[in-house]
Amino acid sequence: MPSERTAVVVEKRPLTPEVRHVVLRLDEPETFSFQSGQIVQFVLDPKTLRLFSLASAPAALPLIELCVDITPGGRGSQFIERLRLGDRVQFRGPFGVFTVPPAETRPLEFVATGAGIAPIRGMLRGLFEAGNRFERPVALTFGNRRASDILYHDEWLALNAREPAFRYHATLSQPDAGWTGLHGRVTDALPSRKDEFQNRVFFLCGSPQMVDDTRKVLEEIGIPERDIHFEKFF
Ligand SMILES: Cc1cc2nc3c(=O)[nH]c(=O)nc-3n(C[C@H](O)[C@H](O)[C@H](O)COP(=O)(O)OP(=O)(O)OC[C@H]3O[C@@H](n4cnc5c(N)ncnc54)[C@H](O)[C@@H]3O)c2cc1C
Repeated sequence: MPSERTAVVVEKRPLTPEVRHVVLRLDEPETFSFQSGQIVQFVLDPKTLRLFSLASAPAALPLIELCVDITPGGRGSQFIERLRLGDRVQFRGPFGVFTVPPAETRPLEFVATGAGIAPIRGMLRGLFEAGNRFERPVALTFGNRRASDILYHDEWLALNAREPAFRYHATLSQPDAGWTGLHGRVTDALPSRKDEFQNRVFFLCGSPQMVDDTRKVLEEIGIPERDIHFEKFF
């Protein structure tokens, strides 16, 4: 039986009507370490487990952050929706290999839709926070329906303005009037930048459909399979 950890809810706020940002304070932080992009498994009850990505970087410990879409409406969504400040939760982990390999030296392309931004936020925070000056090009292509669905939009705009190495490409499939960014899905946005993609490594996160479609588009434009890392949110 994997060892279970506990943490207390110290902040919870809606990012949109469907998505919650949750901050937890670990009870025994000295026993916990993780790599940006990894997941934890919440123990709702001894027989009900749900996976959530860490949306924060190790520098934030003893705090860890989650970004959870509650629209599926099942046990995991209800569990997150019922959490109140001061509640204690149980989880296992960290698990997973959706991380930037420490030896990776190439420019990085992150591609997310919806709450798939969660592990990528953890990775971007790991790269750009804690005094790191990241010199290699790093890009985020973030697909959503409407502008009001974009999670952490202000963070990405601020990072884009502050970090010369970082480029933010927001694309909307159902843009409102007045949207001046990209139109369409991430699979529409990526091919237009294919000339920049030589020797880049990709990190995709979103629904299984989004990940499969994006891998197909990237492979069609010549990105080797080994250079495409992905995480599917089931
Ligand atoms: C690697 C990974 C990382 C994820 N990270 C995030 C994240 O950061 N943010 C986010 O919003 N969502 C994330 N998800 C999705 C999340 O884990 C839930 O699937 C989602 O919240 C819906 O859960 P639900 O209980 O509300 O819905 P449900 O429809 O009840 O369950 C959805 C899925 O949970 C799994 N499941 C159902 N019953 C069981 C069970 N008894 N035991 C174990 N698993 C079961 C099944 O895969 C099912 O398809 C992630 C998923 C994966 C695989």
